Amino acid sequence: MKNNKKILITGGLGFIGTNLIDLLLSKTDYEILNIDKNTYASNQKYRNNIKSKKYNFKKLDICDFKKINLTISRFMPDKIIHLAAETHVDRSIKNSKNFFNSNILGTYNLLNASKNYFDKLSTSRKNKFIFFYISTDEVYGDLSKSKFASLENDVLNPSSPYSASKASSELLLRAWNRTYNLPYLISRTTNNFGPYQNKEKLIPNIINLLLNNKSVNIYGNGKQIRDWIFVKDNVEAILLILEKGKKNQTYNISAGNLINNLNLVKTVYNKLKIKIHKNKNKIVLKKKYIKFVKDRAGHDIKYNVNSIKLKKELQWKTNTNFSKALDLTIEWYLDNYINYIK
Ligand code: NAD
Repeated sequence: MKNNKKILITGGLGFIGTNLIDLLLSKTDYEILNIDKNTYASNQKYRNNIKSKKYNFKKLDICDFKKINLTISRFMPDKIIHLAAETHVDRSIKNSKNFFNSNILGTYNLLNASKNYFDKLSTSRKNKFIFFYISTDEVYGDLSKSKFASLENDVLNPSSPYSASKASSELLLRAWNRTYNLPYLISRTTNNFGPYQNKEKLIPNIINLLLNNKSVNIYGNGKQIRDWIFVKDNVEAILLILEKGKKNQTYNISAGNLINNLNLVKTVYNKLKIKIHKNKNKIVLKKKYIKFVKDRAGHDIKYNVNSIKLKKELQWKTNTNFSKALDLTIEWYLDNYINYIK
């Protein structure tokens, strides 16, 4: 994949952004400008060693319209991938203001700055321009009463302040396309896991607690079903959609790994135990490691996404088996424990 084009990425210091930029640097010739506010969730201290001339970073808040407008008009991207967001549902329940600022106002700013820039492009550059929004399966809401997996044309029915802010951004994007012709792509991805995820998220959190001889809190009865994808598979899908996706389309990305939270905790525990034993590590895991706590407000029981469109139109398939990807992930956190999650 050789192209020498410019790509602007927002939120490229976050979990998915970090993995996406590594993929783009290794597999493509895109010149990348990563803009990120560098919040608590960012991986900046692990990214200072990127030596590539194709990569640049600018600390910027997408809520700052003037700077965003200037940055886009100066950098002149061929494509924009918008990942920057506040992403932790629990935080959105405690205080939703940051979510509405970064996730809605921030997207609104980016869209307006992109429109200003797009309007001035030549027809041939306009034809190639794409604003790609990275959304989530959570915009479909709770599927506990449905036998079917969500499809792209299903109604958006978000439950949490986080998912409502993501759905709002999607609607803005569609309006900017219909009203101002701004070309877009949307991906709706299931729960990602893998290296570089913030320790407040489920899998690194489980590993961190277990390694510290603490119990893992489980919301409600732990029967909430999630659909998991290895982050490396997700970023491969994002690149495929970026290069081959049809304009103004939405694509679900799912690896079909459905598991409830309780079983996921047990699986991670068992895998961690084996690895610790193999490494002759002195860490002792708690025997009673599960603690049931009051359920999360508005907690969705089930997400389940159908990605047949992506498979049929773009011949996408996942490369990594779920159990193997979990092994790789646990090994990564064990190897990077001192630096990353401690
Ligand atoms: P993350 O929380 O790990 O990273 C988010 C990044 O955005 C951070 O580096 C943060 O500094 C940056 N950011 C936040 N607010 C900003 C602002 N106002 N201006 C500039 N930068 C800002 O998130 P992630 O897990 O990498 O998710 C990336 C995107 O993918 C998000 O839009 C999220 O909604 C979406 N998504 C994530 C998952 C998942 O399982 N992680 C699943 C589906 C969709």
